[in-house]
Amino acid sequence: MKIKERIALQFTLLVAAILLIFSLAIYSVSEHYRQEEFYDRLKSRAQTTCRLLVKVQGIDKHLLKAIDQNTLSEMLDEKVLIFDSQNEMVYSSVDDKLLTYQASLLDEVRKERYIEYHQGENEVIGLLYQDESEPLVVLASAYDTFGHSKLTNLKHTLGWGLLAGIAVTIGLGIYFAGNALRPISRINEQVSLITAQNLSQKLDEGDRKDEIAQLAINFNTVLARLNNAFEQQKSFVSHASHELRTPLAALKSEIQLGQRFTKNNAELEEVFANLFSDTERLISITNSLLFLARSYENSTNFKMTTIHIEDLVFVAKDELLTSHPAYRVDIDYERIPENGNETVVKGNEELLKRVLVNLLDNACKYSSDRHASIIISTDPKFCTVKVKDNGIGISENDLPHIFDPFFRATQAADQPGFGIGLSICQRIIELHHGTISVASEMGVGSEFKVQLEHV
Ligand code: ADP
Repeated sequence: MKIKERIALQFTLLVAAILLIFSLAIYSVSEHYRQEEFYDRLKSRAQTTCRLLVKVQGIDKHLLKAIDQNTLSEMLDEKVLIFDSQNEMVYSSVDDKLLTYQASLLDEVRKERYIEYHQGENEVIGLLYQDESEPLVVLASAYDTFGHSKLTNLKHTLGWGLLAGIAVTIGLGIYFAGNALRPISRINEQVSLITAQNLSQKLDEGDRKDEIAQLAINFNTVLARLNNAFEQQKSFVSHASHELRTPLAALKSEIQLGQRFTKNNAELEEVFANLFSDTERLISITNSLLFLARSYENSTNFKMTTIHIEDLVFVAKDELLTSHPAYRVDIDYERIPENGNETVVKGNEELLKRVLVNLLDNACKYSSDRHASIIISTDPKFCTVKVKDNGIGISENDLPHIFDPFFRATQAADQPGFGIGLSICQRIIELHHGTISVASEMGVGSEFKVQLEHV
């Protein structure tokens, strides 16, 4: 889950919990007040009935009942029962003669003087009415219709309010979390655009005051140091290989000169031949390193022209076969392009030829049949060249490293090479904004795929 969503969720849960607690508190306090108020009403109703019964001499019980049942403030399911000290019912506001109450309850009222309790949905109070006359026990019960309906309304209002509050909180949570994290997303986007080739790029430091700006400033400092280290390394490789070229060329000429005087000495001849091939190897490595270093220094300095991939493939094949006549190369189409332009790309001919020669050379070099196949395919956007072989293949562990400079797989050790060809290929394809990838299986073969956008 993203931080933005996590913050929004936590914020929503927190506010929802507060709203819920608040609503429950309001509801239970209201319920408590309703009960208190209702018990008070029941109490005063009980006292009034008792007072009328005792104080108003000669009041008729039927008249009292009629008064009880017809007062304006009559409550739903209201009952007022009055008992004397022998637990005899002396008055009942309802006609039901079967109403009886346990003696223990009446005794409890006499002991406590006043009790409150529930009976089903009704509230009941028990009261000891003591006047000059004998003490009477009054039980009054009723259902608080008005109070309960007010509470039901309150419950609905709180419930809908809670839902609306949660919905608003989710919206606000997402909005504020997104707002608060926007600078981080911006930094994220900028960082994702930084590669080894554009380390000189800087992150936006905003107002240079808040924590995010501080993060950007620190990141920029690290980038600047990295860039510096990279520049130094590149310039070292470039200078070192450049400086080595002249003495190596001189060494090669001197060896060639020396070879003229070894004609009659087989041992010396072999030594000089080895010296010559080692020097050639050194010159080749130095040139490759110089090429790589320079490609980073001035990546826009290459001459770009329109190139027909089919033509280039044939030129690369011829060049390879001239130096390795034993190699075999087949060229085929996956699908004949409908449009001639689909195999035309913009690029540097020399460099792209170098890629193809290198891939073909590897394919033949690492196959016992010395055979490679080229397959050209196109789609509306890209032109793809696949170089396939049925050779030794590359292990799963080695595959992620084969484009690293100087990496060679262990099973490639018995073939000549120094592991720099593929890094040059990758760099050249990078300069052409294309992609190079590989699929391979040990003992079955490899397939290198170069994809370039056509014109
Ligand atoms: P090298 O001069 O060693 O061929 P490369 O950079 O061209 O250098 O290739 C790097 C490594 O990738 C090779 O040493 C080899 O292990 C592996 N490799 C490249 N192409 C193939 C292939 N067609 N089949 C098997 N292994 C290959």
